[in-house]
Amino acid sequence: MKIDSKGNIIVGSVAVLIVSLLLIAIFIITSINYIESENIELKSNNNFRYIVDDYSGSLENIGRESINDATQKVYNGLPVLNSENQIKKNLNKHLKTSNKDFEKRYGVKISSEAISVENTASPWKILLKVKLNIEKDNIKYSDIIERNASVEGLRDPLPLAKLTIASGILTYDEKIHYKNAIAGYMILHNLKSPQSYIEATAPLYIKKCPYDPYTHHGDPGVLKDCLDKGYFHESADGSCYLCRLEGKGKCPHYGFEVFIQTHTPLNNESLSCSDHVVFSDHYNGEKIDPTDWDSLILDSSHRKKYGLVGEDGQ
Ligand SMILES: [Zn+2]
Ligand SMILES: [Zn+2]
Repeated sequence: MKIDSKGNIIVGSVAVLIVSLLLIAIFIITSINYIESENIELKSNNNFRYIVDDYSGSLENIGRESINDATQKVYNGLPVLNSENQIKKNLNKHLKTSNKDFEKRYGVKISSEAISVENTASPWKILLKVKLNIEKDNIKYSDIIERNASVEGLRDPLPLAKLTIASGILTYDEKIHYKNAIAGYMILHNLKSPQSYIEATAPLYIKKCPYDPYTHHGDPGVLKDCLDKGYFHESADGSCYLCRLEGKGKCPHYGFEVFIQTHTPLNNESLSCSDHVVFSDHYNGEKIDPTDWDSLILDSSHRKKYGLVGEDGQ
């Protein structure tokens, strides 16, 4: 059989057509596969859901531990220059260990990375965000997990971060014993009556004061109980936990304040005893009860906030 030039053109055209059709078919099949595999991934998200829930649940404790590690660093006498980065670093370390447990428990591959450590509307809680990647049988799943970690029960890092371990601050009996540390700081900053703050004390652990609204502190027995239990109070002027780690007595975030209790027979005007005043704002107050060695030294606006008046009714 002899093929003429016309036949060649026909064979050639058919060949091009077949190749084109093949390419289109391959493209369509690949696309369908791709779409199907995406569907599988979406469907299987529900299968990953219980792993993700379990993981989120564990993040609260791990987050708290990571914050506490940063606090421990301060208590070891080392500075925390950027508390968010420090906590993220601690978090990644803890997550690495925890990921291995999850891999064993669920037979999956897990990797994760701390994304952010942020303040929340409540100064008692810190928001942690973690990117979580899970893989099983070539099916991949990614999610960003958010969880609040409470700072209640952790130590207040501000006194040590601010005054350093070399200042002679001691911690025992659930209290910070300032010894000569605040007096020394006040002399350095040329503040009035530094000797009033010799042997001053403050609570060591963050505890939220239950006497809300705070004006109840003027009710019989409330202030005494608040000081005995060592409660902290919400305050727009006081610094947040993250800034406390960095030794900042004041910050732009919504934070908390605590009374630094003096134990002195002196009745001199001296720094008002809210910790943001002692460590940053530096304005004076007077003893609520001049006859009481343990009386708080407070300015008029803090007296108003806590419903406390002096003997002279101020
Ligand atoms: Zn209180
Ligand atoms: Zn802050």
